[in-house]
Amino acid sequence: PETKLPKVGTTIFTQMSQLAAQHNALDLSQGFPDFDGPTALLDAVGHHISSGANQYAPMAGVPALREAIAEKVSRFYGGHYCAEREITITSGATEALFAAISAVVRTGDEVIMFDPAYDSYEPAVEINGGTTVRLQLSAPHFKVDWQAVRDAITAKTRLIILNSPHNPTGTTLTQHDLDTLADMLADTDILVLSDEVYEHIVFDGEQHQSVAGHEALRERSFVVSSFGKTYHITGWKVGYCLAPAALSAELRKVHQYLTFAISTPMQLAIADYMADAPNYGFELPAFYQQKRDLFCRLMASSRFELLPTQGTYFQLVDYRAIKDVPDIEFCQWLIEHAGVVAIPISVFYQTPPDTRIVRFCFAKGEATLKAAAERLVNL
Ligand code: PMP
Ligand code: GLN
Repeated sequence: PETKLPKVGTTIFTQMSQLAAQHNALDLSQGFPDFDGPTALLDAVGHHISSGANQYAPMAGVPALREAIAEKVSRFYGGHYCAEREITITSGATEALFAAISAVVRTGDEVIMFDPAYDSYEPAVEINGGTTVRLQLSAPHFKVDWQAVRDAITAKTRLIILNSPHNPTGTTLTQHDLDTLADMLADTDILVLSDEVYEHIVFDGEQHQSVAGHEALRERSFVVSSFGKTYHITGWKVGYCLAPAALSAELRKVHQYLTFAISTPMQLAIADYMADAPNYGFELPAFYQQKRDLFCRLMASSRFELLPTQGTYFQLVDYRAIKDVPDIEFCQWLIEHAGVVAIPISVFYQTPPDTRIVRFCFAKGEATLKAAAERLVNL
């Protein structure tokens, strides 16, 4: 019988993490920190568990957490979201993305997205009967060509998926990008899904341009983020979605039956921590910029060519000078010859371009970054 997602196999993240373990290699592949989140945040979970916060949370999320998010979004981006009706806590950004797509994409709808694209978008569109229109971003700057977007819009276009800072390329959208999109959509019913999980990992003094702070776009948008990236707790799987009340109501219809509610003690702990450390998000860029700069400095004498990275905790490198083979083959070779695991970026494309680029994750302790670079500079 015909399956619903014939193209979907095991994700590259699982494959590469398994290879890393098998070969006892240094894992710079799947994006997660090899260090813990703030101690006060971790301790707060135990406190809430022993205080009896162990039953279902409200369907939309613990009120204190939704209020803390409303306050944060207003302070960082100036956008006002109603904690009661416009903020929903989800099981990581992954659930928020899936719920938003499921809430609005109908059979035959088209969804515009940009390649290389994070791997969870397309299956969510397809399982809901939609099709993706994938526009390519080109190395080395991976900027959106807005004329190509204009040309791709049809009567069937339902949704445009943005991701800034962008995984895997590390590029960011500017205020001008958002204005251009807003103008383009002004007389349409097209919706926007903005994946901003790396919102607090932006470098070189740049400011993250959130759709949540863009007056014209926010009215038609779902804005998704994740505490996993911000607080080094990817394993907790707590994220959220901001959207105007009518869109949030539709999203919650899906969320209600997908997971219903998210872990209560985790939500309470994050709410406490956000209240106690309101400026955390302002400090995170320096923390990760230091890692990016260290990794780049260590790699400077290698034969890898480093591409520009404005945000995220990923660094793209061109490996052509070392070995001129396709990226999946290169990653396998790299594990065997250098004991370092990377992510091939061809898997994020519908039609992979003929590039020689892989992604390293630098959300790692200094010792790991130094050990990895030591192996990589000798290639
Ligand atoms: N979107 C992007 C661009 C990501 O990189 C990730 C995490 N790898 C997610 C969404 C998923 O976030 P979460 O782990 O909170 O589900
Ligand atoms: N977002 C992570 C990455 O890009 C992977 C998350 C996952 O494995 N689903 O590496």
